[in-house]
Amino acid sequence: MGYQEVYQRSIADPAGFWGEIAEELHWFKKWDRVLDESNPPFYRWFVGGETNICYNAVDRHALGAGRGRAALIWESSETNEARTITFFELYREVNKLAGVLQNLGVRKGDRVLIYMPMVPEAIIGMLACVRLGAIHSVVFGGFSVTSLANRIDDATPVAVLTADAGMRKGNPVKLKEILDQALDNATVDSVRDVLVLNRGLVEIEMKRGRDLDWAEQLEQRGARYVEPAHVSSTDPSYILYTSGTTGKPKGVVRDTGGYMTALYASMSQIYDVDESDVYWSTSDIGWVVGHSYIVYGPLLKGVTTLVYEGRPDHPDPGVWWRIIEKYGVTCVFSAPTALRGLRKFPDQWMKDSDISSLRYFFCAGEPLDEPTYQWAGQTLGVPVIDHYWQTESGWSMLTNSAGLELLPIKPGSPTKPAVGHRLQVVDADGNSLPQGEKGFLVDQGPLPPGMLLTLWGDDHRYIQSYWSHFKDKLLYMSGDYAIEDADGYFWMLGRADEVLNVSGHRLGTREIEEVLSAHPAAAEVSVIGVKDELKGEGVLVVAVLKQDIAPMTQHRVAEEMRQLVRDKIGPIATPNAIHFVSTLPKTRSGKIMRRVIRSVYQGDAIGDLSTIEDDATVDMVREAVEALKSEL
Ligand code: AMP
Repeated sequence: MGYQEVYQRSIADPAGFWGEIAEELHWFKKWDRVLDESNPPFYRWFVGGETNICYNAVDRHALGAGRGRAALIWESSETNEARTITFFELYREVNKLAGVLQNLGVRKGDRVLIYMPMVPEAIIGMLACVRLGAIHSVVFGGFSVTSLANRIDDATPVAVLTADAGMRKGNPVKLKEILDQALDNATVDSVRDVLVLNRGLVEIEMKRGRDLDWAEQLEQRGARYVEPAHVSSTDPSYILYTSGTTGKPKGVVRDTGGYMTALYASMSQIYDVDESDVYWSTSDIGWVVGHSYIVYGPLLKGVTTLVYEGRPDHPDPGVWWRIIEKYGVTCVFSAPTALRGLRKFPDQWMKDSDISSLRYFFCAGEPLDEPTYQWAGQTLGVPVIDHYWQTESGWSMLTNSAGLELLPIKPGSPTKPAVGHRLQVVDADGNSLPQGEKGFLVDQGPLPPGMLLTLWGDDHRYIQSYWSHFKDKLLYMSGDYAIEDADGYFWMLGRADEVLNVSGHRLGTREIEEVLSAHPAAAEVSVIGVKDELKGEGVLVVAVLKQDIAPMTQHRVAEEMRQLVRDKIGPIATPNAIHFVSTLPKTRSGKIMRRVIRSVYQGDAIGDLSTIEDDATVDMVREAVEALKSEL
């Protein structure tokens, strides 16, 4: 069957389609109903079923034919270490750590925060949590104190897994130290234990009565075997925070059975891989791609997953290609920003390695621009496949499903809806638009398995954020503009809300604005996304300073603001530029004219002034442009 037939079946008979796939996995108790759509938009999959993701990702292989196969290959170009862990060894390690957590009193439904670098122990930690039915919340190791504290407050974890440090381009990122500060800053006091992996990278202070040494605990409290919890299919497996249009991050909640089934299916249907493959997602476990395609997807399918600590260009731009050669990697999943970075270097870096094992190169996170696509396709010599998804979706919504049928690639388009997704482009009222017209990308329920269940502790915000955009129409709002062309291919045209996409990761403008507004010299701050050749989008800060701030000190204020962003959010949000202006241009209703600021800053032609901002007169826009031209 080709793509079209399989897709049609997934839409016409979702229960039959997904039910068949779920049969291939292990369930302690079979479901009563595949899909419950009685309470939209709260769609529930495999209702009544009980399973365990860890059992399916680890035990199923470790206690069968896959026991001696590599489950995890870890390669660190930061510490020059490498380690291969078979499925059986992974089974042992996960059980040991699950024993520690259980002995520390971690129970089903408890939250465990994971703030770790890209080391095998982080993945073992995630698997140990789901084994117990505990809900992990992994926070990207690049986030700093305030971001971490906010997530602690929202998830109220009972335990935290961390390490002394991660490494970035040869410099340690002191995770334990940042965590200590975040725990001090957090308003909740839920954390009983902090398990610290000591990699010997930096000095750490251990707080008595709270901090525990990872290795010691494995010896003292580790177990040979921990019974995998029988988790309801509809119970949460994890929380993962993402930026939204307000300052408070959104805790995306994933279920258990639906997520497991969707990821398992995607490995063959989308990525076209099986047990004989070596799969490498270059993301980080702190992002959704890392959850789904460093950890759960490959392991559920029994595919070897490569876990990499390091950057694409350190110690030199040949490092990725050498890793592909070393392990015979067959499928890579990366981000356009990495390709754009590597493209700057001579192709010889790639040609020095034998990368003939490679069969596919997938990309997601931001639009894959045509020049980068063409370069990658030609130099890699394999299909380069752009696919579109979000933290909320857990797996791709638009894709070229190579395992079903590789459709002709149109550079710049992430192709067609993934199975189960009823995607449409609609106008502001939620009415379907004809092909070729720009509108909002929406998903019509029932959402396929694997999509978010809700937002942690906030069903109301879930509905407000995703399901309330159109009067009388219940549609999942992606927040992105799109066009569907005459062949049914979708083209993504960027965010429709005030959320930035920096190096493939969402950052809320409000989140950054809140941090900057705390600077004592700031009167008013606006954060705007601007074009950035490498990162896709960069952060521009335009601010008005308080009147008594001497112009002489502006440089220092800008530096302090930069540092604030690094400390409170993380280096990823560091502004490209900070400009001080006398006033921020506003529309009649008082909204900052972001598009005007962006256009002037980028030097774009300010075409038709009457349409550039929704709620400003032509004169207002003209004045703003003139004023900004002299100040930006
Ligand atoms: P995140 O949840 O951080 O992964 O960000 C998801 C957002 O990234 C989407 O809503 C899109 O705006 C953007 N995005 C992800 N993948 C693509 C893609 N293949 N093409 C265009 N935009 C993308």
